[in-house]
Amino acid sequence: MSYNKEEVKELLDIEDIYTLLEYYNAEPQIYYNHIEALTICHDGDSHKLYYYENTKLFKCYTGSCGSFDVFELIQKQEHLDDLNAAVYFVVQFFNLEGRIDQVDVSSGEDWKIFERYKKIAGIHTTINDKLILPEKNKAILKYYPQPLIKNWQKEGIEKEVCDLMNIRYDAINGGILIPHTDEDSRLVGIRIRTLVKEFENDGKYRPWKNGKELFNHPLGFNLYGLDKAKENIKRQKVAIIVESEKSVLQFISYLGLSNDICVAVCGSSLSKYQFQLLYNLGINELIIGFDKDFQEKGSNEYYQVQDKWEKIYRKYGNLVNMSFLWDKDNLLGYKSSPLDHGKDIFMHLFRNRVYLN
Ligand SMILES: [Zn+2]
Repeated sequence: MSYNKEEVKELLDIEDIYTLLEYYNAEPQIYYNHIEALTICHDGDSHKLYYYENTKLFKCYTGSCGSFDVFELIQKQEHLDDLNAAVYFVVQFFNLEGRIDQVDVSSGEDWKIFERYKKIAGIHTTINDKLILPEKNKAILKYYPQPLIKNWQKEGIEKEVCDLMNIRYDAINGGILIPHTDEDSRLVGIRIRTLVKEFENDGKYRPWKNGKELFNHPLGFNLYGLDKAKENIKRQKVAIIVESEKSVLQFISYLGLSNDICVAVCGSSLSKYQFQLLYNLGINELIIGFDKDFQEKGSNEYYQVQDKWEKIYRKYGNLVNMSFLWDKDNLLGYKSSPLDHGKDIFMHLFRNRVYLN
């Protein structure tokens, strides 16, 4: 995959740049329309690196580095000679997937960028090319309570399932903390689902930040819920992928942990690596349960969704059987996930799933 550089840059606001500078320990100070920070561009120790919101450019006032954009800064910091890798870094760092169009390129290119990304993110690879994401410290979570989340309960999510998935509440930031573990149950990231309407513009889900520590992780390199579903998937040789963490919680609430074969891609696309994680478990059927992103049949959005499905099918359909939870009978609302309207509707969609061939 590759991304449009300008489009990605447009999505970054001054707060994002601040976060990035903090990540690089540049001691940023934020002002009305600019940031002042340490001159990390040349390993300097004066606060003469400025970032201007209107031009989206940095300027180093020591005379050493001149003007440059966020990608050039990342290239310098991460020692990357490839601009695409820096763009990819930004997309992953800020979880921008799903908010931008992805340009499909050949799969060879895909892996080259993955290789780059692994290096930057400090990800290790085992012999069979499995990525081991850096483990985060989970001790902090115990300070956050596990209350009953009424809105979620109304949506069919049981309190026991929230507890099982270690869901917490962060009162200060007004959101629900969703710890993400890898298939071996190591904590690799924490996302926050905001409950504050105004924050939703920045995305309902964001990486959680605690003090200076950002609990982000590259979403495309993990599957939410895989550690819980793994053994069942191996046994049944079937997996269901959904878009959001909540859908996984609903699935377990409806069908119980002993039937759990549901994992979330945490975006609206399935990465090659995510597919590989499931394929390695020996699946012979992959069920796609993505959100219903269209209002009526025959609309533009309808054809876009069909297009997306066909793309997934073309990529992986020769490796496993693929089926889709397709809302033929119009039971779901606009933007609903197949699990949003209760167990009965989900089971109906599941039993009547559509196979492409
Ligand atoms: Zn400089």
